[in-house]
Amino acid sequence: MGSQLQTIALGNIHPGGWIMKQMEKDLHGFVGHLDQLAPELMIDDLIYGEHRLTTKIKGKSVGNIQPEDEWIIQYLWWNSESQSNWWDGYLRHSFLLDDKKHLQRINEHIHYILSTQDEDGYIGIYAPDLRYSFSTENGELWSKATLYRVLLAYYEATGDVKVLDAVIRAVQNVMDNYPINNSTPFLAEKSYAGVSHGLMFTDVLDKLFTITGQKIYLDYAVFLFKDYCKHDVSEKDVQLQNIFNVAYKLLGHGVHTYEHIRSLTVASFATREPELQKALAIYLERIETSTTPSGGPAGDEWIFERNGHATDTGYEYCSIHELMDSYLLLLAKTGDPIFADKVEKIFLNAAQGARHPEHNSIAYLKTDNSYEMCGTRNGEIEPNKKQTRYKYSPVHQDVAVCCSPNAGRITPYYVQHMWMKDEEGPIACLFGPCEAEIMVGNRKITVKEITSYPYDFSVIFEITANDPVNFTLKIRKPAWTNSVKLNTPFTEQKDFFCIKKEWRGMERVTIELEPAITINTSSDNEVYFSYGPLVLAHPIEAIETKTKEYGIKDMFDTYYKPVKLVEYIYCGGNVAKKEGVLNFEVDMINKQSGMLEKVSLTPVGKTVLRQVSFKQKK
Ligand SMILES: [Zn+2]
Repeated sequence: MGSQLQTIALGNIHPGGWIMKQMEKDLHGFVGHLDQLAPELMIDDLIYGEHRLTTKIKGKSVGNIQPEDEWIIQYLWWNSESQSNWWDGYLRHSFLLDDKKHLQRINEHIHYILSTQDEDGYIGIYAPDLRYSFSTENGELWSKATLYRVLLAYYEATGDVKVLDAVIRAVQNVMDNYPINNSTPFLAEKSYAGVSHGLMFTDVLDKLFTITGQKIYLDYAVFLFKDYCKHDVSEKDVQLQNIFNVAYKLLGHGVHTYEHIRSLTVASFATREPELQKALAIYLERIETSTTPSGGPAGDEWIFERNGHATDTGYEYCSIHELMDSYLLLLAKTGDPIFADKVEKIFLNAAQGARHPEHNSIAYLKTDNSYEMCGTRNGEIEPNKKQTRYKYSPVHQDVAVCCSPNAGRITPYYVQHMWMKDEEGPIACLFGPCEAEIMVGNRKITVKEITSYPYDFSVIFEITANDPVNFTLKIRKPAWTNSVKLNTPFTEQKDFFCIKKEWRGMERVTIELEPAITINTSSDNEVYFSYGPLVLAHPIEAIETKTKEYGIKDMFDTYYKPVKLVEYIYCGGNVAKKEGVLNFEVDMINKQSGMLEKVSLTPVGKTVLRQVSFKQKK
């Protein structure tokens, strides 16, 4: 029922090296400024407080291109998602970086939210005349899922029991008003994104179970999942009847499809019902086929029964975060390091490759093969649609402020899971520079991971135990390596290197991971290259145009056009690595001239325009 691996509390782990620098840049960039970039959505609308929605409100500004009137209702909850997801990433950045100035603001916000709690425990976006009595689209559970995740993160970092108690009472209020097995939270006509996102209330329930050990939270999560399967919701990919339909292909709004993995996972592990376990296995196979070579989860914004394709299927930054978070949960629940490989693939490639390598901006939508970023997918004109998502912006307010908040969440979630633990001791799950304090039994040890991974492959672990203590240090064996050097005797178990001994004082364990250049074939029979966890791309020189400025230092939107677009075709040659750097070279055919040329490759995360996958010469 519980997880195989336990997480390390927020506040007991901190990034180092390049990840710390990137997080500091984001905190001083779009993460720390999103409220100034879109104040009317993020700050002015006190949607959980004074501006709670009532039957009297007809519409409000949510800052996007306005939809048809009849759909207006679906947008009314939207600022709750934008705000809470933003606070979630902002709060985690602030704790992970221990930034006192920003933590001050975080404290004030949390106390403001607690002040909105009603006598009966309700914390949410609806006035009493609306709550729990919907016949159509609503954000009752979704607005709470996003906010309570923030509150529980704050509790985790501070141990402030007032905040935990507030969440427990607020969740009890949900369980009182939607009684378990005796209500239908997902029965709603013409429901849309909000109702379907509401299934993610299972995130809160799973976390509350972890904190309190109270099984009722898992039982309630199972109830929500099963109720979700019974109704005509907008997002049906995760419904059991569709999972067990062999002809069914994923077609939903990507971000829903990828986040719903977690609800199915929680239900499956809570009940151990063979039907749910089988459903999870089938669902994960389908998810696999919908990802691109860089790990990008197809959906621009819908999946529409397509496999992940390097040129034709865009992926949304929200989906990148949600799929990674789902794999993190699977890593914890199963203890299987294969999910850590998937997390690294997404984070180090799709996620790094969809943020601008220098500016404070991200792509709302991105493709692996990215030939132009001027609003549309690789310069295509989409009829009857003004597409503006393929560009770099710190906010993307002309579409929706969803991806920017989620881009602020992804790095903290990665860092928080770099170390986990089980009853035998600490586990290095995801590689990268960081420091953590970990309780082993009743002893506190510290671990410091010194590395530039994935930009070099030697990792030094400094383990400090002030009092001698016995435990097993486990280090994940990445799926891409067969060959490692460790300076300490070890055994290998289930793809972990295990060092079992008494630890005393400061001890150093050094591991040298030895990646090789790998030539991979994509689902559409194109070739792409990887080096250890890194997917490689041929960078395409681009002309940058600033399309919008925000009057805030270093905040602007940009478009990119190629200086000269050449596509390359792979004809079977070897890939050579340049000494000491992550630059590679391979002979390929210039599609336009037919001539053989030396083509450079570099990690996809360092690129803007690029070619990742290559057709093969027959
Ligand atoms: Zn988004």
